[in-house]
Amino acid sequence: MAWEIVVGIESHTQLLTRSKMFSGAANAFGAAPNTQASAVDIALPGTLPVANLAAIEHAIRFGLAVQGRISARSVFARKNYFYPDLPKGYQISQYEIPIVQGGTVRFFVDKAEKSIRLTRAHLEEDAGKSLHENFTDLSGIDLNRAGTPLLEIVTEPELRGAKEAVAYARALHALVVWIGICDGNMQEGSFRCDANVSVRKIGDEELGTRCEIKNLNSFRFMEQAIEFEARRQIEILQDGGSIEQQTRLYDADRNETRPMRSKEDAQDYRYFPDPDLLPLVITEADIERIGASMPELPEQKRKRYAEKFDLPAYDVSLLTESREKANYFEQSLAAGFAAVTPKLAANWLNGEIASKMNDENLAFAALPVSPEGFAKLLSRVQDGTISQKAAKDVLTEMWAGQRDPDSVIAAKGLKQISDSGAIEKIVDEVLAANAKQVEDYRAGKEKAFNSLVGQVMKRSQGKANPAQVNETMRRKLAG
Ligand code: ADP
Ligand code: MG
Repeated sequence: MAWEIVVGIESHTQLLTRSKMFSGAANAFGAAPNTQASAVDIALPGTLPVANLAAIEHAIRFGLAVQGRISARSVFARKNYFYPDLPKGYQISQYEIPIVQGGTVRFFVDKAEKSIRLTRAHLEEDAGKSLHENFTDLSGIDLNRAGTPLLEIVTEPELRGAKEAVAYARALHALVVWIGICDGNMQEGSFRCDANVSVRKIGDEELGTRCEIKNLNSFRFMEQAIEFEARRQIEILQDGGSIEQQTRLYDADRNETRPMRSKEDAQDYRYFPDPDLLPLVITEADIERIGASMPELPEQKRKRYAEKFDLPAYDVSLLTESREKANYFEQSLAAGFAAVTPKLAANWLNGEIASKMNDENLAFAALPVSPEGFAKLLSRVQDGTISQKAAKDVLTEMWAGQRDPDSVIAAKGLKQISDSGAIEKIVDEVLAANAKQVEDYRAGKEKAFNSLVGQVMKRSQGKANPAQVNETMRRKLAG
């Protein structure tokens, strides 16, 4: 029996603001417990919330970035529930009318472009944190996080499988960082996702009953959690059972999901408009003003790169993973080395540079090689001064602090042999020493050619210009 996995993602994006959603307390990570909670955040009687303009503008930026509808009038609502880290007894959120409705996020799965529709994005405040470690027989409560501005971004149940869900979440993460509304730091909880997972038989119209896996703060865990959860549900259904709608937690150590609580319904939360806050009114002029401050979006950049540079869509999608990477690419092309083509720069940025950054867990903003130095290095490959292989060694030196590729090439003696007399001499030597292979080649064995070229490269300690070696070898063998 073939099953289809259906996923919808809710992402909690902490908004980059100086102060909290409804109070003047600082919105910064890492302060000593309860030093960043104002009277409003700890819900002292008589305090009143005031909405944070910067957070509202961030939500509008997001709405513009995903081409959603920005509500002219949205409403803050109280979501009531009891929990020790929620001093007011309710969370201020948006319910019936969120600030952003609809919208689309485009992303790549295995080089294929996909898109997913968003249901909504709404503003809300975060709760505090319960601390269970370092305490025996009691829990600590840290209210620093209480009131942190969040944008909750909800997709339609249109993602198919764990891989697709993760690809979407990565793209969304990149987008909120790109437009400057979130620092994207997942270890610090700035971007966390809930994955709603259900399964159905392929061809079924109706969606299956879903379970919601809470608080996934790593893409790897998200993929494992969805895979585990889908398998669990399929096994139950295959055994003739049925799925109970639940909220579940993922345990990474055991790679399994466990029930946390049975799912609340909206009525459990007794939503109603918050009487302490006016409806949020956004004018066309506000939207226009914020629109004018938006950076070029990844999608616009992708379109421009594809047209201007004639690059494959996948290369372009990698170049636009982050604004820093795209800027680096543009700066390396602007460095003034005519030989550095967009394709060459893209190949190196998406290949060698990406893998080095991966190894060292570096972000583009922290790349130790300047775009100018990088472009100069590529130009030395292009003009035949060094081989691709030597260029990788030079890059390693530049990574360690060397600025100028030319001095590294000189110091390490990496200059390629392009002198035709010198190359001809080595080719002659190799041909003389390998009569058998020459004979094989003439008898039609193309493999013998590669072996002869290999020997020339070896004799030259890898420095002979490969194109020239090939050309010389063909000419000599033909003659
Ligand atoms: P709630 O607010 O109670 O969590 P919503 O109806 O707003 O519920 O849905 C939350 C998320 O769950 C959305 O991303 C939605 O796409 C997803 N979802 C809803 N039904 C299903 C389903 N049957 N299978 C998978 N995901 C679903
Ligand atoms: Mg939910």
